[in-house]
Amino acid sequence: MQLFELNAHTWVIQGGGNIGVIAHEDRCLIIDSGLDKDAGRDILKQVKNLGLTPTALLITHAHADHFGGAHYLVRQTGLKVYATRVEAAVMSSPILEPLYLFSGAQPPRELQHKFLLAKPSPADVILTGNETTIDEIPLRLISLPGHSSEQIGVAFGDTLFVGDAFLVPDILDKHRIPFYSDVQAGLATLATLKTQTPTFRHVVAGHGEIYSSVEQANRAIDYTAERLEHILEMTRQALASGEPRSTADTLREICRAYHIKISTMPQYVLYQTTIQSALTTLYARGELAPVFQDNQLLWQRTA
Ligand SMILES: [Zn+2]
Repeated sequence: MQLFELNAHTWVIQGGGNIGVIAHEDRCLIIDSGLDKDAGRDILKQVKNLGLTPTALLITHAHADHFGGAHYLVRQTGLKVYATRVEAAVMSSPILEPLYLFSGAQPPRELQHKFLLAKPSPADVILTGNETTIDEIPLRLISLPGHSSEQIGVAFGDTLFVGDAFLVPDILDKHRIPFYSDVQAGLATLATLKTQTPTFRHVVAGHGEIYSSVEQANRAIDYTAERLEHILEMTRQALASGEPRSTADTLREICRAYHIKISTMPQYVLYQTTIQSALTTLYARGELAPVFQDNQLLWQRTA
């Protein structure tokens, strides 16, 4: 893991993801905790090397790669864990992540891998997302739903941490279809985010490059928004003939268009979730309607 100093009070530890470290007087807040015990250990080592004692941990959203290291950090340091309500529910009962990805049915073992199933780490404090201090540290939380339902970001001094609200372009190009549980909310979040970036010197996404220019950050935000719009457009096109189609069929069409070849269970359920949310977004906008045929739930264009 590599350490980046953004200013005298703010750092990013970069490994599998970007971990934020904020220091204020005798307090030290860590933002996200990496995937597992190893990540937690590396984070703690780096924070100690800075001469800091972590007192709080904020989880932007409850995906295993963001809270999997929390269990270790809590055990080693006794720091307090902060998260919003829905995200905290997953953190205390991590089986919820594979469970929701598998429509609430008992998830197969392929979905019970540490990338989707972290060790439990209950939140000590439930956040509303409007807080202006955490652990006596002055900061501002910002609500960033879309990638996850109650994701939050943290504004501290000249730095904005945004979790996975947007993906940096090279990572987005690798995934092609980003994970979104709510495409509509994600688009609104990206639009809001762009109005916020001009007041910050550094914008830190959950993974990849740290942006120290507003233009670069906004370009990455636009790139993610364009991808979501493109996924909505591909969903419309998959249903353009007027023939009703299932979610599975729509997913197949869109994967074909993006040259995606799914070969694992996690890939399938992650892509499927984004396409489901594209379908519900278009349904909420009145562009589609559900129809039942042959005991299948199908989607049909309304116009
Ligand atoms: Zn995530």
